[in-house]
Amino acid sequence: MDEWEDYRLVARHGKPGFEGNLDARPVRVGGVTFGGPDPVVIAGPCAVESREQTLAIARAVKDAGADCLRGGAYKPRTSPYDFQGLAEEGLRILAEAREETGLPVVTEVMDPRLVPLVASVADMLQIGSRSMQNFPLLMEVGKTRKPVLLKRGMCANLEEWLCAAEYVALGGNLDVVLCERGVRSSWAAEYARNTLDLNVLIPTRQRTILPVIADPSHSTGDAQLVPWAARAAVAAGAQGLIIEVIGEETSVDGVLCDGFQSVRPSVLRRIVEEVRGSAVPTA
Ligand code: PEP
Ligand code: MN
Repeated sequence: MDEWEDYRLVARHGKPGFEGNLDARPVRVGGVTFGGPDPVVIAGPCAVESREQTLAIARAVKDAGADCLRGGAYKPRTSPYDFQGLAEEGLRILAEAREETGLPVVTEVMDPRLVPLVASVADMLQIGSRSMQNFPLLMEVGKTRKPVLLKRGMCANLEEWLCAAEYVALGGNLDVVLCERGVRSSWAAEYARNTLDLNVLIPTRQRTILPVIADPSHSTGDAQLVPWAARAAVAAGAQGLIIEVIGEETSVDGVLCDGFQSVRPSVLRRIVEEVRGSAVPTA
């Protein structure tokens, strides 16, 4: 069996109109198109921490030109003692932020039992890096008709990532966007949280018709590096970005989750302007 047969529904191989090019099958989230000619920018807080924080950041990212709002109501935290998210209250806040800004909401679901609840609010369901091979979860989101943002497992190879997408597709949901979010490496921890795998972007597009975006926040773990990683990712073939943001005046230490890697809205605006000015390279 050829490798692509393991992920035959999402494979480029054998799809009329897609062979011999790098075009994606577009994925639409609200009025936003992933895999089209322009890079898409998802931005927002790591976690929904409060109504005030989320609404303020939602307005700021909208103003900076972002296309979608991100924010976790259910957070996968390494320590069980860390802030775990506001859960249902967080979902209500996200719904309010969408109402006010018009931005489609991208939010993570970790528990297969919560897929219907999270899908009742989310415009796009995020599967986090730690859940990439939670097969019951993948099958559950495959049953929904909500677009899925499938982050790459931090130690997953490309075939494992594409097979994870296949689990979603097999449920009848082909609206999957892949996200490279940095991989573990022996060098990373010295100066960055992970290693942004720029090399994977074009091989991913060569093998699948799914759009692929990049996460410069979790891959670098450092707000100073985010604009550089964002530019590099788009130049290397990413069809969009997902970026963590904190308030312009917020103290990094006052943030419950990932403040050190979150950029200010003014920086986000610059990134958006830069990537908007450069259509996704086609070769
Ligand atoms: C996130 O985007 O909120 C997140 C937890 O990222 P990852 O799953 O890539 O670690
Ligand atoms: Mn985060």
